[in-house]
Amino acid sequence: MSKEKISQLESLRAKSKREADLFFSLCENGQNFVESKKLKDALDHSGLKPNDNRLQSLFKRLEAHGDKIVFEDFISIIRTSGLLVEKALRGQLALPDFIDFSKNIDKIFDEVKKIRSGELASYIPPLAEVDPDQFGIAIVTIDGQIYQRGDSQTDFSFQSMCKPFNYCFALEALGLEQVSKHVGKEPSGRQFDDLTLLARSASSNGFSRVPFNPMVNAGAIMTAGLIDPDDSFTQRLRHIRQQFGRLIGWTADESPSAEMPRFNKNMARQENFKGYNNIAMGYLLMATGSLPHTKTDLHRDIHPDEDEFDFYIEPAVTEALKLYFSICSLEMTATDVAMAAATLANSGVCPISQDRVLSQKTVRNCLPVLQSSGMYNASGTFFQQVGLPAKSGVGGGVLLIVPQLMGICIFSPRLDTQGNSVRGIEMSKRLTSKYLVHTFDGTMTDTDRLDPKLPIARWEANSCGEAIWAASNGNIRTLESLVSQQRDLQTGDYDIRTPLHLASAEGQLEVVKFLLDHDVKPIPDRWGGYPISDARNNNHKKIVDLFEKLDIKYTEPFHLVENPKGKSDKIAKFDDELMVIELLFAATKNNVDNIRHLVANGVPVNAGDYDLRTALHLAAAEGSLEAVEYLVTHGHPLNVRDRWGATPLDEAKREKRKSVVDFLNKYKS
Ligand code: GLN
Repeated sequence: MSKEKISQLESLRAKSKREADLFFSLCENGQNFVESKKLKDALDHSGLKPNDNRLQSLFKRLEAHGDKIVFEDFISIIRTSGLLVEKALRGQLALPDFIDFSKNIDKIFDEVKKIRSGELASYIPPLAEVDPDQFGIAIVTIDGQIYQRGDSQTDFSFQSMCKPFNYCFALEALGLEQVSKHVGKEPSGRQFDDLTLLARSASSNGFSRVPFNPMVNAGAIMTAGLIDPDDSFTQRLRHIRQQFGRLIGWTADESPSAEMPRFNKNMARQENFKGYNNIAMGYLLMATGSLPHTKTDLHRDIHPDEDEFDFYIEPAVTEALKLYFSICSLEMTATDVAMAAATLANSGVCPISQDRVLSQKTVRNCLPVLQSSGMYNASGTFFQQVGLPAKSGVGGGVLLIVPQLMGICIFSPRLDTQGNSVRGIEMSKRLTSKYLVHTFDGTMTDTDRLDPKLPIARWEANSCGEAIWAASNGNIRTLESLVSQQRDLQTGDYDIRTPLHLASAEGQLEVVKFLLDHDVKPIPDRWGGYPISDARNNNHKKIVDLFEKLDIKYTEPFHLVENPKGKSDKIAKFDDELMVIELLFAATKNNVDNIRHLVANGVPVNAGDYDLRTALHLAAAEGSLEAVEYLVTHGHPLNVRDRWGATPLDEAKREKRKSVVDFLNKYKS
């Protein structure tokens, strides 16, 4: 690159470091522009979709703009979406490592797909006739990242998944106190359609028996009865569909019909036709006095035939049932339902439209009941295993809410004996056994499971980086505090370098003693080197003596260094040492998105660790070709030398990474 260009770029950096870091994370070395495709790819990898409302003006600008975007234009283009794109580029969205997350869910999906047990709901033809093999999943985060797989775009019957939303709508209209007079909050421990009611000691308002909770049929019929009872059926249904439209991201300025969930009238009629139990329930609710009467008089229709009379059917009952059946018969895709669930996860604000559909209070009041009763008589077991508020429906849907993180919907129509989707339940279980999303995971330090809020490389950096840097710098205080947190001081980094190696290399005698006193064992690093070699190579005799006293057979390390006297290119220092370790882990894993995020956060590509290892050393040693390419094309010098004088090319050669060797040789010339 010409000197002139370098100073031009340097001056850009000086102008606004924060913005320049974003730009340089996408801009190749020697160029002064970002390719439009690179920006689009980065957004795609972050899980944001081009049809996201919040990105509409950005994509319009990109279409109008040529392929090459210079710094000033880049900044003005990404500003059209507020801070969203900046967060995406920096890896600061709810799921920072979206690609890695997606791959893991793909894997679980493929395993669960093999399960074919369970039966379709058979009580009405439209449910009994669906394709039983359908299987889809969608996940939407509170930042509007969307993962979808399988039949995630197929409309299916909402059924009982409507129940938490009905409860929310009733709460919005009447408030908790009023709604609680009509429906309880207690788990029933019974089937979803059980006729038993919760006996409550009679209070001044006279209600003594109410549905256990809004998540069983009795409760959902009740809440349906409470929503706009004075309006006509069509008005009520329309209003509810509009509310669902808003929950799934419909904004008023778009044509409503396209975005409102589809109403399957035939399904609703069949529900009515075969809904004996629900109809019984409606009358039971009326009999106990908890379903409010409609303000109609008994109409005085005297029949000419003197013994004949018109049989009175209470409109409050039929209206509540009609609306309940109709809401059950709405149809949405798994992606829609996941969006509605994400709106609940996001305390009532739809992630992509930023529309506040429900108040925070409403959502806060709904989720605990959903958690304790959403899976009917399997709720306790489900909560223990999965630990998330969830709701199933006989249409085969299961929705889950990970508060403040994401909404999930799984759709697969075969049901277990409790009426829950078999694959839906299985998928949910496997999700929490892979990820730390169980409500009570907060107190766990189980490292077999992943925190979806952290990129895996940061997780790894956190597990060893602090201790190694502390050992290297002789910082016993930090090590003591790590011991008191029961953190493992034996854990090695991407080169299996451990605190004991670094303390030995840096002559930190007290640290070595401290570690040995805490039962830390010397183990070999990537090259077969034990801490004793570090101490020897750096002439720390007292430390060598300590190790010699231990009864261990030490092997000698093998480092390939083709030109031991060679000078090193510049290795950068960066204040946030853990971010450097994260960068090197990301390079090890060939995770280019993660590397790009770190660069967008200002971490120099050529930042070095305590052994002067850089991301390029690691990417080369592991054969992470894409990472090597990214690093080199974003300004990483080739001739950096680690503690032992090895360059990335030496590393690639030693580990026989042919494609990397070829690439580096070609790039050099
Ligand atoms: N429409 C169904 C019913 O009322 C809903 C039940 C369910 O999905 N669990 O029976």
